[in-house]
Amino acid sequence: MTACTYCGCDVTAHDPVYVEEVEDSDRVPAGQFCNYGCLAAHVETEGLAEGTTCRID
Ligand SMILES: [Zn+2]
Repeated sequence: MTACTYCGCDVTAHDPVYVEEVEDSDRVPAGQFCNYGCLAAHVETEGLAEGTTCRID
């Protein structure tokens, strides 16, 4: 099974979303989530989105 990065459930039992990051121009897995709800909760909990907006109107 593939455990959700946020809640630890098996993501394949839900509607999985996968995240990748780029390191030295290679794509590397950065987490997997049951759905966008778990992804959003993880981002919120870890503060991953703070100060990372690429454009501010
Ligand atoms: Zn989850």
